[in-house]
Amino acid sequence: MTYDVHIIGGGLAGSEAAWQLARRGFRVRLSEMRGTGERSPAHQTDGLAEMVCSNSFRSDDSDKNAVGLLHHEMRRCDSVIMAAAAKAQVPAGSALAVDRDVFSAEVEARLAALPGLDIVRERIDTLPEAGLTIVATGPLTGAALAGSIGKATGADSLAFFDAIAPIVYRETIDMDVCWMASRWDKGETRDYINCPMNKEQYLAFHAGLISGEKTSFKEWEENTPYFDGCMPIEVMAERGVDTLRFGPMKPVGLDNPHWATAEHPNGRWAHAVVQLRQDNKLGTLWNMVGFQTKLKHAEQVKLFRTIPGLENAEFARLGGLHRNTFLNAPILLDRNLRLKTAPHVRFAGQITGCEGYVESAAVGLMAGLMTSAELAGRTWQAPPRTTALGALLSHITGDAEAESYQPMNVNFGLFPPLHDVAKKQRKEAYTARAKDDIAPWLESLVPA
Ligand SMILES: Cc1cc2nc3c(=O)[nH]c(=O)nc-3n(C[C@H](O)[C@H](O)[C@H](O)COP(=O)(O)OP(=O)(O)OC[C@H]3O[C@@H](n4cnc5c(N)ncnc54)[C@H](O)[C@@H]3O)c2cc1C
Repeated sequence: MTYDVHIIGGGLAGSEAAWQLARRGFRVRLSEMRGTGERSPAHQTDGLAEMVCSNSFRSDDSDKNAVGLLHHEMRRCDSVIMAAAAKAQVPAGSALAVDRDVFSAEVEARLAALPGLDIVRERIDTLPEAGLTIVATGPLTGAALAGSIGKATGADSLAFFDAIAPIVYRETIDMDVCWMASRWDKGETRDYINCPMNKEQYLAFHAGLISGEKTSFKEWEENTPYFDGCMPIEVMAERGVDTLRFGPMKPVGLDNPHWATAEHPNGRWAHAVVQLRQDNKLGTLWNMVGFQTKLKHAEQVKLFRTIPGLENAEFARLGGLHRNTFLNAPILLDRNLRLKTAPHVRFAGQITGCEGYVESAAVGLMAGLMTSAELAGRTWQAPPRTTALGALLSHITGDAEAESYQPMNVNFGLFPPLHDVAKKQRKEAYTARAKDDIAPWLESLVPA
């Protein structure tokens, strides 16, 4: 058979992309390396759309939760991942959890039943030079293909480890305590939010970093040589009590205007500062600079809320460090997920820098829809930015800050803000707006 599209990777994203294309009558080759005797270090089976760790797609509440909203929108697009999850669902309160084997078998059965879809068990080692292609090989992309992608994109634009610093919602930072300044008051624009610490606060924080419970690296992560460039903050703390004060928490030159006196009208330097940098164009999300960490999530929330100004911080993302192959998508991909330098190649799933099963499948879904539009000779309309699909796509394809780009879950900080709605009602307002806005967009899709 000759194919309209070659999809590489039969995980969450590749399976969803294949479904969206083949059910619209396009001929698809889906290449999956598992089943040839090869597997990534995390995968345990040869089944399509294997969930490698948790069996949960997280909250299914589409009225108050961003990932629940994404479920809702994917269902409106007839997602195979959502349909198989419904079939495999197990009780888990308001979360959507599944029996992973039933889930994977259901995805595979639905794909196998589509006449124009060939599932081929083969490993692909180089980016195809021609023909519409979707690369959905995930966070553990095979080494040879990763090398080929690195060659096409520039080695600096393809990461092999994430180094995730926590991200805070801007509106939860107390600016009566914090202040804006340039990085180390070097006369640039005042782009950083600074949280000041006195000596006592710093020492307690330092002790918390050392004693806090950490997650450990998996054996195959420890042996990956890319780790040196992204040292966790607690490892830096272990090197000496003042190491952080000479690194990411350096206070030098940063006059705190809240500490101004007659003698020091510009304010005084703190003993240490935590700096936050804007993370998205909307200005709703700010990342804690240099704070990549293996502390357990609950420990992070507890400890980071001891930082002056962050007492009521809410986190769009907590810190982490994992083996993770991903592109600097905001600069490499166009708004249609195509590689700017080779537009016949689209990327989908976690390799684009989204994070999570649902987000990966959602980006696969959009890659499938975009390719369908291209094959049908239609102009693709992006989902409105007010929807979860649109917010995620906008973030990946240009709205995120490329310099600090790290994998991201869907969250309301990616949505155009609704400042005029009371804070307590905002989540419902975001989801209601999205549900209104998704409906007309669905009309623009190539019919199945
Ligand atoms: C260890 C680990 C644990 C995770 N735990 C969770 C979790 O609990 N919850 C969550 O929401 N997210 C989790 N994630 C993140 C992420 O959501 C999942 O990895 C998700 O499966 C990503 O979907 P994907 O389709 O992009 O990639 P995958 O689902 O990994 O699919 C990629 C597919 O491509 C295949 N492939 C790779 N290279 C080649 C090649 N060269 N040729 C052919 N095929 C190839 C792989 O075998 C795989 O089937 C985890 C990630 C990792 C690495």
